[in-house]
Amino acid sequence: MYDVKSLKAEEFISNEEILETLDYAEKNKHNRQLIEEILEKAAPKKTGRGVECAGLSHREASVLLACDVPELNEKMYSLAREIKEAFYGNRIVMFAPLYLSNYCVNQCVYCPYHMQNKEIPRKKLTQDEVRNEVVALQDMGHKRLAIESGEDPVNNPIEYILECINTIYSIKHKNGAIRRVNVNIAATTVENYKKLHDAGIGTYILFQETYHKESYEKLHPAGPKHNYAYHTEAMDRAMEGGIDDVGLGVLFGLDMYKYEFAGLLMHAEHLEVVHGVGPHTISVPRVKRASDIDPDVFDNSIDDDTFAKIIACIRIAVPYTGMIISTRENEECRDRVIGLGISQISGGSRTSVGGYAGYSPEERPHDTEQFDVSDQRSLDEVVRWLIDLGYIPSFCTACYREGRTGDRFMSLCKVGQIQNCCHPNALMTLQEFLEDYASPETKVAGEKLIAQEINKVTNPKVLERAVQNLKDIKNGERDFRF
Ligand code: SF4
Ligand code: SF4
Repeated sequence: MYDVKSLKAEEFISNEEILETLDYAEKNKHNRQLIEEILEKAAPKKTGRGVECAGLSHREASVLLACDVPELNEKMYSLAREIKEAFYGNRIVMFAPLYLSNYCVNQCVYCPYHMQNKEIPRKKLTQDEVRNEVVALQDMGHKRLAIESGEDPVNNPIEYILECINTIYSIKHKNGAIRRVNVNIAATTVENYKKLHDAGIGTYILFQETYHKESYEKLHPAGPKHNYAYHTEAMDRAMEGGIDDVGLGVLFGLDMYKYEFAGLLMHAEHLEVVHGVGPHTISVPRVKRASDIDPDVFDNSIDDDTFAKIIACIRIAVPYTGMIISTRENEECRDRVIGLGISQISGGSRTSVGGYAGYSPEERPHDTEQFDVSDQRSLDEVVRWLIDLGYIPSFCTACYREGRTGDRFMSLCKVGQIQNCCHPNALMTLQEFLEDYASPETKVAGEKLIAQEINKVTNPKVLERAVQNLKDIKNGERDFRF
């Protein structure tokens, strides 16, 4: 029985409700009038408080996803671009993953870190190695990390994760600092989520992988992750533990994408109804090749067109949720989907344990890689590429540090007001990157972009402060924020 308010996984992600949704979507996929009405409902509207978007229910959004009328699909793409522009402008927030340990007691069949893979060496960073990795990441210009670790209560207990977070925040190397640590670790207890909250994490990210329970259990044949309910209810426990910002995601290619899409939106609706705040981010990874993993064995893989459509439909359905793609995707694909709604990308990523320190930008250790990195450009190259496309690469971490999390963040985001902070913050953090880490070509291109973009700050007081801060950054000061 479907119940969005229930705390039981099988009730808020009801299989029956998803099947009925898919049936409804299939029956209405050519219903022009209904689709036009849904698009009209989702369009940004000017209100007394600012620009607002209604978002869509999982049923409405599923109709859009099912629609295969080219002209209506074009309307969806333009609406996704319009919403992206209204809430995220032309900014793209940058981050990098940091792999702490690939010890894992689970048996996820799509991941090379699964316990039975004897081909992969097992590694766990010492605190000295964490320090070296963080210095290497700071030297690239990163300010925001997502830490990743397998699940292993003996090798990677929560104390180890907390110690690593502490180490990461403590390192101040030259002008560098990691200002936000997002955490991607296995589902855990309320007590452990409290500890993560107290350690000052940014977003807690946990991919559902698949919402289809039967497939989930087959894909996770053993280990603690086998428990579908425990995994699916993790975000409720995280919020109970005080974590305001949670990040959802499915691994596209594991089950039918339409099923996953409906499940993902039902999960978002559940969090909004129960906790008063929806997911902070949604990630859209696709299955990739890796040691002992052949993506061709997953017969639900999705092509680039479908991937772009999913991203556009998520953007329309949950306009206030940031959307993330990683270096799993190549440059061409990233170029295409950024305009449709992606707000955060990784750059210069290494997906192996200890993959940053001691390697040149061209060198890439493959021994402990979790997946093939398709976009192998350096951070400077990705930054330059974004600038050339007219985007502002942003290293902003202000909200979390100003206490703008959870519903406080969402209330500003929902009327488009957060932009008044995001835009100058993006310019100031980009200026820091240009001063400290950029190549001469990127610096020239970035300064030109900042000179154009600063004029878009409409509030005179903010403009005055931002202009002064940009000057101060050039004179060596750091870490300004709105
Ligand atoms: S996906 Fe995570 S839990 Fe599963 S095997 Fe890989 S590291 Fe372990
Ligand atoms: S101001 Fe807040 S929402 Fe905007 S980019 Fe910075 S951290 Fe993100």
